[in-house]
Amino acid sequence: MVSDMIYLDNAATTPLHPKAREAMLPHLSEIYANPSSVYGPAQQARKMVDEVRQTVARALSAGPQEVYFTSCGTESNNWAIQGALQAHPDKKHIITTAIEHPAIANLCDHLKTLGAETTYLPVNHQGNINLQDLKDAIRPDTCIVTVMLANNEVGTILPLAEISEITKAHNILLHTDAVQAVGHIPVDVNQLGVDMLSLSAHKFGGPKGIGALYIRKTAKVSSLIHGGMQERNRRAGTENMLGIVGMGAALQASLEDMPREKSRITAIRDRLINEITTQIPHTRLNGATGDGRLPGNVSISFDFIEGESLLLHLDMHKCYASTGSACSTGALDPSHVLMAMGMPHEQANGTIRFSLGRENTDGDIDKLLKILKPSVQKLRDLSPLYEDYMNM
Ligand code: PLP
Repeated sequence: MVSDMIYLDNAATTPLHPKAREAMLPHLSEIYANPSSVYGPAQQARKMVDEVRQTVARALSAGPQEVYFTSCGTESNNWAIQGALQAHPDKKHIITTAIEHPAIANLCDHLKTLGAETTYLPVNHQGNINLQDLKDAIRPDTCIVTVMLANNEVGTILPLAEISEITKAHNILLHTDAVQAVGHIPVDVNQLGVDMLSLSAHKFGGPKGIGALYIRKTAKVSSLIHGGMQERNRRAGTENMLGIVGMGAALQASLEDMPREKSRITAIRDRLINEITTQIPHTRLNGATGDGRLPGNVSISFDFIEGESLLLHLDMHKCYASTGSACSTGALDPSHVLMAMGMPHEQANGTIRFSLGRENTDGDIDKLLKILKPSVQKLRDLSPLYEDYMNM
């Protein structure tokens, strides 16, 4: 870490946990055997893989035989949805929400070209769905419902336990993209009632390029990646030992620290929300409040300015955050999440997500506020919208 920077983009990725680094180092030198081989060092490697499988299973209150390693959250999502459709060729309907990450949203768009149909459930101003909409969307050919556990842009936590009562009553598979939740809030696959759950290590202090998919043992789901016999013949490819041990150590550390870190980060979050919205006029918090949002998420709309411009100002002060909008074709597309929440374009374009993590302190918030207030004012002073407003 660069010491004088303020990293507030932990929802994009997190710094590697020191325990993950420590666990990974031997795998860059002396440990290299393939866990599928039969000799001693290979069996040692196999044991390490199985220990991490136990850790992941414990983190989710699942059985180890229900945990499969993948290359990332995106692959886990692809496996869950495509695997469900392939295993149920008579069913082609997917139900999801309008606020999913592109790892679900763009996947559903792609599957349309292969004959699948998707219903996108609308969300309210806080980014939450109406359960009646879900009930109404169910069709005889509905194969799977996929609803994220926590939104990556606004931090809203969705009611998976209630959703699962509905999917169970209709005998429909339920998947959740829990990439933003695992390692940050308690996640129990039985309490949530999900059949599949995706997670990704780099969101909780593990390395990039490793994730897992939980598949309930009763769920009928085909494989996505075919080849060797790895992962009990369900996900081919030589195990990413470096990633697996790093993920295991990071997850274990997150679980141990969660009771303390969850309340510490929530307190910093609430302070940041409070200070921005009371000290900087024309600002608004997006998403839910209290326990309804992720401990580390602060999504704020700043009226009269572009989020991208504010980010550049913050960047000059080594303060790193993110907007909700994707810059795809050169033009600024407002975030599909904020738009689905009913936000006008201008407000969506003036939105910044600060996402807090293990390394953030109250001192970071002090520094951020010092930079943020004059930066917002400078940009407003240049804004014709603000000028119009002031002359009203
Ligand atoms: N799902 C959500 C909610 C995410 O926030 C992300 C990453 O930002 C992903 C999926 C993709 O995970 P990965 O980067 O491991 O593919």
